[in-house]
Amino acid sequence: MILPKSNRLTPAQLAEVTGIVAEFGCTIQPIIGALRTIYAIVGDERDDLMINRLEGLDYVERIDRIQSPFKLMDKRSDLASHRICLGGVTLGEELFVIAGPCTIDPKNPNYFYESAAAVKEAGAQMIRGGVWKPRTNPYAFQGDSRSLDILLEGSRRTGLPVDTEVMEESHIGLALEAGVTCLQVGARNALNYSLLRAIGRAVAGRPTAVLLKRSIHMGPVNEFISAAEYIAAFGNPNILLCPRGTAPGLDGYRNHPDESITPLLKEKTWAPVVVDPSHSVGKAAYVPASALAAVAYGADGLCLEAHVSPSHGIGDDPKQALTPRGLAETIRQARALWRLRRGLTAG
Ligand code: PEP
Ligand code: MN
Repeated sequence: MILPKSNRLTPAQLAEVTGIVAEFGCTIQPIIGALRTIYAIVGDERDDLMINRLEGLDYVERIDRIQSPFKLMDKRSDLASHRICLGGVTLGEELFVIAGPCTIDPKNPNYFYESAAAVKEAGAQMIRGGVWKPRTNPYAFQGDSRSLDILLEGSRRTGLPVDTEVMEESHIGLALEAGVTCLQVGARNALNYSLLRAIGRAVAGRPTAVLLKRSIHMGPVNEFISAAEYIAAFGNPNILLCPRGTAPGLDGYRNHPDESITPLLKEKTWAPVVVDPSHSVGKAAYVPASALAAVAYGADGLCLEAHVSPSHGIGDDPKQALTPRGLAETIRQARALWRLRRGLTAG
């Protein structure tokens, strides 16, 4: 990783470093942060001669040689100072809440509009809504591209940015063109490296964020962070890590709640952790406790399924979605706990 003395390299400087690393079979990938651009050396960066030549350039502050399978996402990376701003919130400075229906019902768009309004009223800063759905049962409703218009109309009506899952490459361009702020990678696709690469390529240079769910089959912490590295390697570091429960489920729960990996993640990576308790426990009645547990473990945010009338919802909503009142109360308690915890951490 090349850290220049200035905020970014000039085109001539970039050409010079690119030329040097090319002699050693490497390429340069700029990583554009809010304040500063840093330059990843892609390839085997262990050659001392290459490092010496780069360190000798008068516009280079230093070269970071992090030996980590995820050198960009690693907490020791210079990206650790990168801040992700979404919906008016700088992650880490305030509890960030994404909420909304599991699945947008294209036949009844008003449920989504009313849910979006309720989500805003409850104090969430981003709205979620599933357009394309990964369903275990191949005969279940798989989503509908028309729901994308409904999602964005909900965003316009509330003024809040939106998150939706992209399941295949063709969804990425559609979502970005429509104006989706946060692309969600689902638990079933969390290890789909070609999709991760395609997302990385597509979001490079954009303010778009990616909510990366943890693989459903108990992906080890390093595997989870490495999946994020696939995206970051293309130049966009706006990645949120989302534990969402793993299989097999704890008896009685949909999955095995895994908010407890938050401190482990935080030890290894700078990426904000946004926990999804809804899919973790799988039942609305258990969601508030799981949400608070996530905050207690140090989560920076929550992703909650919520619907104005859960029994009229589709997908997971009848089982998992919080009502507007449940959502508002969960957010209120979670924010109070977040402030308490922050005080404890600071003390
Ligand atoms: C969802 O968010 O509705 C969803 C399908 O999530 P996951 O990929 O975690 O199952
Ligand atoms: Mn769902």
